[in-house]
Amino acid sequence: MKSETIAAIATALSESGISIIRISGNDAFQIADRIYRSPGNKKRLLDFKSHMMYYGFIYDGDVLIDEVMAVIMKSPKSYTAEDTVEIQCHGGVLVTKKILESILKAGARLAEPGEFTKRAFLNGRIDLSGAEAVMDVIRSENEWALKSSVGQLRGSLSEEVHKLRESLLYEIAYIESALDDPEHISLEGYPQQLAEKLVVIQKILCKLLKDADQGRVIREGINTVIVGKPNAGKSSLLNRLAGEERAIVTDIAGTTRDILQETVRISGISLNISDTAGIRFTKDEVEKIGVERARKSVENADLILYVVDSSVPMDENDDEIIQMIMEKKCIIIWNKSDLPAVVTEDFLLHKLEKYPVKPYFIRISAKENKGMELLEKSISDLFFEGMIDYHGEILITNTRHKEAVQDTLSGLEMVLKSIENDMPEDFLSIDLMSAYAALGRITGEEVGDDLIREIFSKFCMGK
Ligand code: GDP
Repeated sequence: MKSETIAAIATALSESGISIIRISGNDAFQIADRIYRSPGNKKRLLDFKSHMMYYGFIYDGDVLIDEVMAVIMKSPKSYTAEDTVEIQCHGGVLVTKKILESILKAGARLAEPGEFTKRAFLNGRIDLSGAEAVMDVIRSENEWALKSSVGQLRGSLSEEVHKLRESLLYEIAYIESALDDPEHISLEGYPQQLAEKLVVIQKILCKLLKDADQGRVIREGINTVIVGKPNAGKSSLLNRLAGEERAIVTDIAGTTRDILQETVRISGISLNISDTAGIRFTKDEVEKIGVERARKSVENADLILYVVDSSVPMDENDDEIIQMIMEKKCIIIWNKSDLPAVVTEDFLLHKLEKYPVKPYFIRISAKENKGMELLEKSISDLFFEGMIDYHGEILITNTRHKEAVQDTLSGLEMVLKSIENDMPEDFLSIDLMSAYAALGRITGEEVGDDLIREIFSKFCMGK
């Protein structure tokens, strides 16, 4: 296939040991040959063996720019599956830019963000979920995210999707053939068999969806919300966790009116913490808005840190908070343990009687920085149990994939309903087809150009 030759700097543009400039496309070798000279001019780049490194120099006309190592990769054995050249030069910003400039002068076009990976996709070397995994590998911030992205890059998700799609396609083909040739292929008792098979597929997809939340947490971090009455010590706790004076700490109840956000890392996973306004019934309009916002963030939270001031009595505001956070994963933080306790532990436990799962309960003093290690341990226990055993199973970490799985499940649901209602077989085939198509969106077999453009535009330059 004829393709325009593109070039870009593949490494970060800053002072470093080396920089890499990549060229890909039909004329990659000729273009690089125009600017490369070997020592003593003995060898041309066009004569390089594929996948072997050669020493030499890059020239802009007669002006020497840098000494380099260069490698050619003959199609299809390259990242893009096209003829590719990679030039390693000294890692200076100016020198790297100058080499790119000379490549562009010699006939290449500057690559768009993600264009190398887009070509790998368009040339069929990787599918869409693989291409997305490339970016996820680059952005991985912890071991779990990296393991799951590399798994996806190597095709774990695509393999599962292919298997499921093949089973669906088999059933569609069977129905179509039976409808075409009723004399030889009978559909007697078939819908029941189909229903049984679809239930198995449904289970696999539901498991993928169920794990998707864990996938999101691994990738994006735990959405954590700090709640509690005004003055309980929420901002002090956030400051302790973040290790800096971000939130405003004062003695006047109700100071944290807006929601402060901070990302903290515990055991390799990010906690995206929001510190909410103190929750109390109030006539103050500004505070009312804050409380409403807190309520909304609680709804979207993965984890609640409920801060209780142990030196003052609990009241109806605490009841309100407990009601609000009842359904959530929660750690109750018994703050100000340096002061004499007014509320007893028994009293608090009694208040939490109706809580569906027993929440963790930790004593701390944000002021004296006591109990923080135990708090961090509880957070990691709460989230990483199970994940410690994570060995790279398939995890959906991408919202686009999650939606495709949801749509596939809706399609299957329709088929099962039609079977229940004894609908004619061609109805079954139509809904099976829509489930089949939805699943194909994950691997990119059923997506439009717009979506492809959008996905690759989020990539970094030179990838
Ligand atoms: P918020 O309104 O819940 O955000 O509470 P702040 O973090 O602003 O704290 C309110 C007041 O309680 C401030 O004067 C803090 O210094 C104080 N405070 C916070 N944590 C502790 C603690 O563990 N012990 C004591 N004695 N005071 C604390």
